[in-house]
Amino acid sequence: MTDSTIASRIESIRSAIDAAAKSANRAPSQVTLIAVAKTHDGSAVQDAMAAKQFVFGENRVQEAMAKYPIPSQRDPRMKLHLIGSLQSNKARQAAEFFDSIDSLDRESLALELLKTRDSGVKLPELLIQINTGAEPQKSGIMGVDADGFIAQCLDQWQLPVQGLMCVPPVDQAPEPHFAMLAAIAKKFNLPHLSMGMSHDFETAIRFGATSVRIGTAIFGARPKITE
Ligand SMILES: *Cc1c(COP(=O)(O)O)cnc(C)c1O
Repeated sequence: MTDSTIASRIESIRSAIDAAAKSANRAPSQVTLIAVAKTHDGSAVQDAMAAKQFVFGENRVQEAMAKYPIPSQRDPRMKLHLIGSLQSNKARQAAEFFDSIDSLDRESLALELLKTRDSGVKLPELLIQINTGAEPQKSGIMGVDADGFIAQCLDQWQLPVQGLMCVPPVDQAPEPHFAMLAAIAKKFNLPHLSMGMSHDFETAIRFGATSVRIGTAIFGARPKITE
């Protein structure tokens, strides 16, 4: 895709986000666009930055480390989110590289992040991923376990959890999933809701999304293997 295409797609997504926020009586500034650049190379990221897009999502630690500068050499406006499943043995690397880890999805990873903090690393912002559709192949805390896990992260471990993320099942209407995520966040007073992708972000904004994660509608299709 040419740079002008990426820029114009970002512009039209931003207009759609603004319109969806306004029609939900929300301020457009309450919704952050996370440009999901996974599988696309550094030149796609450059094109997006030329269009003043500075918030990016990646699903693999190694791929991100090859694509973006180290934190001290980044444009200060840049914010990197890890949105893919994180192996415990990469928790430390991820904590040092990303501004937010949005896919905290199990106790073993929480414990690894605690170890990382104990060793002197300042943890980034964290979101807990909830498997709202209880899909066996998908990561995320099951709905029935969500309250207990969130309480443990906040109260027992004092982890810097700021919100929740979900990816609804592809073959279902997303509304009940967005509503469930919003209800859990409300119960714990968590300010951030990362929900909504290329095909359903306007609905997610109606249900209170504070971040939408958009890949395909900005950068074009990805090879099937990474979906
Ligand atoms: C790939 C991915 C996205 C972006 O999906 P698109 O449909 O390309 O917009 C969003 N969230 C997560 C967790 C992803 O892995």
